[in-house]
Amino acid sequence: MASYPNASANPLAPEWLAVPGDANSLAPELWSRTVARVDGELTVGGVRASELAARYGTPIYVVDEAHARERAAEVLAAFTAAFERVGSSAKVYYAGKAFLSIEVARWMDAAGLNIDVCSGGELAVALAAGVEPARLGFHGNNKSLAEIDRAVSAGVGAIIIDSLQEIERVAEAASRHGRTQRVRLRVNSGVHAHTHAFLATAHEDQKFGIGLTDAPAAVARIRELGGLEFLGLHCHIGSQIFGSDGFAESAARLLAVHRELLAGGAVPELNLGGGFGIAYTTADDPSPIGELASRIAETVASGCSELGIPLPVVAFEPGRSIIGTAGLTLYSAGTIKDVPVSYQDDGETAVRRYVSVDGGMSDNARPALYGADYSVRIAGRVTDAPPALVRIAGKHCESGDIVVEADYLPADVEAGDLLAVPATGAYCWSLASNYNYVGRPAVIAVRDGVSRVIVRGETEADLLARDAAYSGPPTGDREVEGAK
Ligand code: PLP
Repeated sequence: MASYPNASANPLAPEWLAVPGDANSLAPELWSRTVARVDGELTVGGVRASELAARYGTPIYVVDEAHARERAAEVLAAFTAAFERVGSSAKVYYAGKAFLSIEVARWMDAAGLNIDVCSGGELAVALAAGVEPARLGFHGNNKSLAEIDRAVSAGVGAIIIDSLQEIERVAEAASRHGRTQRVRLRVNSGVHAHTHAFLATAHEDQKFGIGLTDAPAAVARIRELGGLEFLGLHCHIGSQIFGSDGFAESAARLLAVHRELLAGGAVPELNLGGGFGIAYTTADDPSPIGELASRIAETVASGCSELGIPLPVVAFEPGRSIIGTAGLTLYSAGTIKDVPVSYQDDGETAVRRYVSVDGGMSDNARPALYGADYSVRIAGRVTDAPPALVRIAGKHCESGDIVVEADYLPADVEAGDLLAVPATGAYCWSLASNYNYVGRPAVIAVRDGVSRVIVRGETEADLLARDAAYSGPPTGDREVEGAK
């Protein structure tokens, strides 16, 4: 291989991004457990990236089944052990909004997790997977009457009530079906967390749940109506949280009200939601789940002992921290442009290399939606070319259509290279769109050297089939076909 001079940092790179010693390296915290390089090529679940691309095309989402199953079991074990140590127990719901398919619902079920769904569609998937309805939690800030009816009649284990109006709606459905429906009440603790920072205010300016101060009256109403059984309070403080401080603050606020509620009847559970973070780049440093679980369990235990109340069963709803790192997306590089960019007032410029791929914001909306950062590697080969700063752009008609804002790739990256973006298992497929009539990619599960489709990719025919004015291929095409 050719030799290159040592690369120095590109001044356009964000501060957190270090120039890698080796731009082929796969930082283990970003990739699923079975990812490795074999003869220079990235393999996942024992399957080569080139084999996946040849068989299924690109872009594709690839899910490491062993990782997803192991991680689900590990998260459950972490919370179970932590709460057993303080004399209570834990329940873990997999947050299906992160990524739900029949297959994934079955993996989670098999690992012993319950499943949290937040729409009629997610409920339908979980039921189609054969998950016992009693193991489902049903969320949503604006559940339709039909969704409530379906959840109650299916026998879901808990409906998370999100408003005062919903108390009446769920009670009405329960009475219509002659059932006692277990419910939680979603409240705003005033704690809002994002990554390591959290903000604590008296009230939260958001659409979910009700204010904590309104909870006693709401619970009194739940108890007064027949057909509802109150399980406890629920709170979700945010996403991609690395530490336990926000959870601890929120738990303390909730427990004070939980104690007040005990005066009027049983409050067997407390649900602290999800939001545990993962590493998308080497700058991300989430605490291990065992540590977080222990710290939260200890906070809840000491809070209960200070308040002189029994420890409730504590429920959690992790999504991203289970499925996020299990996934990666494979793209093919296409057009590559070196764009001179001024970075100083005196007109000093540096080059940003735009590498466009065959997907983009339609398969990963998070960078455009939240400015989320991702990482990238060449999957098909290794090279000793020096690291060059790249921006991975999509193929959509939006300048904000970026998949990876900044990373270093070997400078000889070229059209046709297979690129892998790690940690796309959560909130990528589930947030995917058909922008520009681009079909949503297939989801391929890999395990022990075998790959299989778990969600079929959308074709142009799928997209056209929904157009009410569509009447088959253009006449010209038909004639050509007929003439063959
Ligand atoms: N529970 C609730 C109520 C949520 O709104 C969310 C995410 O938005 C989750 C759980 C899952 O969060 P995460 O995937 O970050 O763990």
